[in-house]
Amino acid sequence: MSRPEDSPWAVSVAQVSTRAGQSTRVDRDFPAPEGIGDQVVGIPAGTPVHVKGDIDSLVDGLLLQAHVSVPLKTECTRCLRPVNTSIQDDPVVFFPYKEPEPEPTHGKEEILAEQEDEAGGQTYPLASGGAFMDLEALLRDTLVEALPLQPLCRPDCRGLCPQCGMDLNDHPDHHHEMMDDRWAALEGLKQRLEQEENPGSDGRTGE
Ligand SMILES: [Zn+2]
Ligand SMILES: [Zn+2]
Repeated sequence: MSRPEDSPWAVSVAQVSTRAGQSTRVDRDFPAPEGIGDQVVGIPAGTPVHVKGDIDSLVDGLLLQAHVSVPLKTECTRCLRPVNTSIQDDPVVFFPYKEPEPEPTHGKEEILAEQEDEAGGQTYPLASGGAFMDLEALLRDTLVEALPLQPLCRPDCRGLCPQCGMDLNDHPDHHHEMMDDRWAALEGLKQRLEQEENPGSDGRTGE
């Protein structure tokens, strides 16, 4: 059995969760949880995610206001060049002292994770009766949401030539002389249509 404090995402909050008005800080790296994006646009599990934030104890729970940052290596969806960027986000989440579910948990705290409170903000459970805050679910949710759907090397990337794949960022004047090809294709189509209209002896049952 693994204890909550053995989790690589555990943050000890026992000293602040005893009464309201206390505060502490978190400022360190946590390993990226599994399941963030895919191989093209994603964060490999274990990538150091830096979390810097304040934890304040309120009457009914702990409030975490954090800045989360992690490097992102991906490729431009237009020109396929490698893109080295980062994901930044500023989640504000609440960890209530009271378990939101009346039934006793059987070590299945994951199921309770990610509940929306009335204000629409994210709420996560504390572990070990309020002694630890586990940031795994929070980090996964935050990073999945912050992943760019279509990363670009720069906002105005010209992409690749759809005909030959040449990088149009390097060759902005690149184009193909397409008129001749198009007229030739049209001519071929015209001939085919004319043949279909006059199928000769191979007529349909039009009697
Ligand atoms: Zn690009
Ligand atoms: Zn081309």
